[in-house]
Amino acid sequence: MDGTALEAMRAALRGPVIAPQDPEYDEARTAHNAMIDRRPAAVVRCRDAADVREAVGLIRDRGLEIAVRGGAHSGAGLSFVDGGVTVDLSPMTGVTVDPGARTAQVAGGTLLGELDRAAHAFGLGVPAGIVSTTGVSGLTLGGGHGHLTRKYGLTADSLLSADVVTADGGFVTADEREHQDLFWALRGGGGNFGVVTSFTFGLHPVDTVVLGITLWPLDRIRDVLQWYREFLPQAPDDLNGFFAELTVPPAPPFPESVHGRKMCGVVWCWTGEEGEAEKVLSVVDAPGPPDFHFTAPMPYPAVQSMFDDLLPAGLQWYWRGDFFDRITDEAIDVHAAFAQAMPTALSTMHMYPVDGAAHRVAPQDTAWAYRDATWSGVIAGIDPDPANAEAIKRWCVEYWEALHPQSMGGGYVNFMGTGESQDRVRGTYRDHYDRLAQVKRTYDPDNFFHANQNIAPA
Ligand code: FAD
Repeated sequence: MDGTALEAMRAALRGPVIAPQDPEYDEARTAHNAMIDRRPAAVVRCRDAADVREAVGLIRDRGLEIAVRGGAHSGAGLSFVDGGVTVDLSPMTGVTVDPGARTAQVAGGTLLGELDRAAHAFGLGVPAGIVSTTGVSGLTLGGGHGHLTRKYGLTADSLLSADVVTADGGFVTADEREHQDLFWALRGGGGNFGVVTSFTFGLHPVDTVVLGITLWPLDRIRDVLQWYREFLPQAPDDLNGFFAELTVPPAPPFPESVHGRKMCGVVWCWTGEEGEAEKVLSVVDAPGPPDFHFTAPMPYPAVQSMFDDLLPAGLQWYWRGDFFDRITDEAIDVHAAFAQAMPTALSTMHMYPVDGAAHRVAPQDTAWAYRDATWSGVIAGIDPDPANAEAIKRWCVEYWEALHPQSMGGGYVNFMGTGESQDRVRGTYRDHYDRLAQVKRTYDPDNFFHANQNIAPA
């Protein structure tokens, strides 16, 4: 990028334009995943939608490559490209709650924790992801699932409208009445269609919830998964419970007796009457008595930020996911083998339920293409030490390859990592792909926005 382009951007924008010679450059190009080490020509920190429009226009007119940064949590580090320009929304944060209308307007660079906190002040919330430092933008555009999915659906299911800067520098508001096709595509289609500067969500009543954690020894994983696959789908929507393979962290609420042990378990979130949680969970003995069982009422934002300290920025990550409509006996054999082989203390496998309310949205109503899935699974190799990067990647890929034949064939776009093929993107969108490609042709015919899990224009 030549000096004149840089000068033009600096003159046109209110936010700072950070170039390689600037002291903030390394911090500005840092993704959450420390395996990503890209060197953009500039990072443009936008203050508002006007900055985003200016930046999009200048990047396009000068033939530069664009990337868009929400919370920088994507496993593939999609918010940075070598030699390109990142439109960084991180200064654009803020949540305005209308408690009467039960809506929240959320700026494009806002992180989940800020949304959770602002809505909680009114006893309201949005179903979202389980780590509060994740960007609202990327999570919502890919779908978004978490502790409230069975009760209130995907994050994208609560979206009422989105303000979008398009590839030609235009600005549109997409909702059920205007730009309906774009609104459909934004609910699952990822960052393909423009830069979303603001989201409006419908909010739901959620206040204090009951968090639960139940852990069993890893050698009982077969019994636990056989029980879990029957129990959860018929449990009330008020109960969410994601299955996990983990190494127990040496911290409260876990007793020393389980610290550092490889175990399997379920993380529960109960949104019904507080007093009923223990009754609903009284069945956790069914696969054999757990070594640890804990429940506690907590404010919803506390549950949402519970894993933040375990997963700070700067760790090595390699992950892959798939959707599952059932947990087969063959899949359980694969889990049993690879859980024993978890290579590092933070490496993990999660199965997030995507049934309940998420199943009650008609398949054709949003771009999210797996309304018939019961779980969204992710295998994540994670470690602070770059020397372990190859080991966590190998474990993840081998585990995924062994498990994939038991899946529905495609994975969640937000759990795609580096090195996944275009076939995988098609697998994510199934028979929605062609309609997404049509919408892409309308709003981005030249595929200007391609630093994403890309949908090529029809
Ligand atoms: P970014 O890397 O900034 O963006 C991701 C993609 O979206 C990129 O292609 C980017 O260009 C595009 N994008 C970002 N902002 C915009 C915008 N405003 N307009 C247009 N395009 C944009 N997912 C879940 O569903 N549930 C979870 O519980 C969950 N937990 C997670 C926990 C951790 C620790 C991490 C690292 C990820 C988790 N995820 C979860 C996955 C997460 O949804 C994705 O990584 C998501 O892409 C993150 O969005 P982001 O804005 O932070 O990322």
